[in-house]
Amino acid sequence: RNIALEVPVWDPDICIQCGKCVYVCPHAVIRAKVVPPELLANAPASFKSTEARWKELPNQKYVLQVAVEDCTGCALCVEACPVKDKRQTGRKAINMAPQLPLREAEAQNWEFFKQLPNHPRFDGIHFNNVKNVQLLEPLFEFSGACAGCGETPYLSLLTRLFGDRLYVANATGCSSIYGGNLPTTPWTFEAATGRGPAWSNSLFEDNAEFGLGMRLALDEQMNLARELVGRLRNVIGAELADALLNADQSTEQGIAAQRERVAELRRRLEGWRAETAALQPPIADLPSLISNLLAVSDKLVRKSVWIVGGDGWAYDIGYGGLDHVLASGHNVKMLVLDTEVYSNTGGQASKATPLGAIAKFAAAGKHTRKKDLGMMAMSYGNVYVAQVAMGANDAQTIKAFLEAESYNGPALIIAYSHCIAHGIDMAKGLHQQKLAADSGYWPLYRYDPRLHAQGKNPFQLDSGAPKIAFKDYAYNETRYRMLQQSHPEEAEALMKAAQAAVNEHWRKYEEMALKGIGQPHDGAGAMVGGAKSAGTLEPRVAV
Ligand code: SF4
Ligand code: SF4
Ligand code: SF4
Repeated sequence: RNIALEVPVWDPDICIQCGKCVYVCPHAVIRAKVVPPELLANAPASFKSTEARWKELPNQKYVLQVAVEDCTGCALCVEACPVKDKRQTGRKAINMAPQLPLREAEAQNWEFFKQLPNHPRFDGIHFNNVKNVQLLEPLFEFSGACAGCGETPYLSLLTRLFGDRLYVANATGCSSIYGGNLPTTPWTFEAATGRGPAWSNSLFEDNAEFGLGMRLALDEQMNLARELVGRLRNVIGAELADALLNADQSTEQGIAAQRERVAELRRRLEGWRAETAALQPPIADLPSLISNLLAVSDKLVRKSVWIVGGDGWAYDIGYGGLDHVLASGHNVKMLVLDTEVYSNTGGQASKATPLGAIAKFAAAGKHTRKKDLGMMAMSYGNVYVAQVAMGANDAQTIKAFLEAESYNGPALIIAYSHCIAHGIDMAKGLHQQKLAADSGYWPLYRYDPRLHAQGKNPFQLDSGAPKIAFKDYAYNETRYRMLQQSHPEEAEALMKAAQAAVNEHWRKYEEMALKGIGQPHDGAGAMVGGAKSAGTLEPRVAV
């Protein structure tokens, strides 16, 4: 596309290979691989690499490459880089530089990089931290989202973690527009297998139900496949049939083993399809049974259904459906990309818009509090709930995604997503996320119903006690500052009310972390404390 005036340039000499730049890139433009040195023998002259720093991957090369023609120049990667160049003040292990002089050589480097193998997701490396996750191939790339968008890194992460097992039901909104600007689509497939996530878009008002329908259909197909495996046990072979039916798919290794079994199943079925007459004793309708099983055999591999949308969908127009689907107890995951405003239609207030912020339909500043969607979901007791902000704690975000996916029930993740509608320097979006958490406005937490059974508090507060006043976060953003400039007295009153709301909200969450929340939904286990925070229940900032 060549829209960036400046693009990042990597300095392999001081890079610590942390993967943070790869993790935060909204357009999956910057990527990392670890490869055997011999694969770099024919690399272009300007292609960079360095010794890989993975103890599980000895004697390998680490390469970090930017697709400069698809980079938007947002500089989030540079902001995320933790390494300061001691040789030159202000420089890091990755720095912005004019694109034009780099374009031709880097385009060649990108082509070379693309044909290098991606790391398999099941070879013993645990993809539960930012460093390792950078090696997973993203299957959401080069979208039409704004430069520096705070939503898309979460989608990129989703595809990295769950790959082609992912089924996405996408509500209308920004994510359906940049996710489906047909005839192109940023949802793509693995280079090695040609398989990728399934994606479809539904309306604002029925997306949760749409995703639930995907889950029910997948479950029906899986049940049919299991039934047919049982009926065709003699054809398939008892050992393979039993292994297919009893597979442990709780890990990527287990899932990979099941994929191999399904491939073997398909080989055997294809073989029998040609020779059904030879089978003794004969089985009635054997050709159609084999055809049916071939059609649904892929559903024997565990699938992951994610219902995705913005706050306009989740808090407002689609809320009834979201609540209904959470209450259904089915194994679906909901990801709310919370920009706190209807971003795609020009910035109208939603029930996620915070007190004191200006938005369309709240031109004098919103006078009511943001709805606490997480608390409402937690009240069910059997819903996994997490609130995340990757700019505040990238590891907690990965943990929440993995825990939600592994939970055999409904899950809700509310993800802070900075947005152009906030009126910020988008290069500082991750920093704003951190300030939101530091102020206590956006506490990071995870509520895992499985902890009930272990006699633990299911609510874990992952944020420390507030360190800054709410206004020190809010007044970096035009949506709050505008009112301060036009109606200073009104702004001051709203800011005071907003700080009081933050204090009250934080106290409530801290108390839940210290004392436990509700009763175990299944009667298992007793509650004990489990706070990670400082432990005092006093408000941190005076109002
Ligand atoms: S400047 Fe932005 S789009 Fe380009 S590589 Fe960095 S994070 Fe990605
Ligand atoms: S964020 Fe910086 S140190 Fe980390 S991998 Fe990227 S360039 Fe290297
Ligand atoms: S309007 Fe906001 S959420 Fe939508 S693409 Fe732009 S930055 Fe992302």
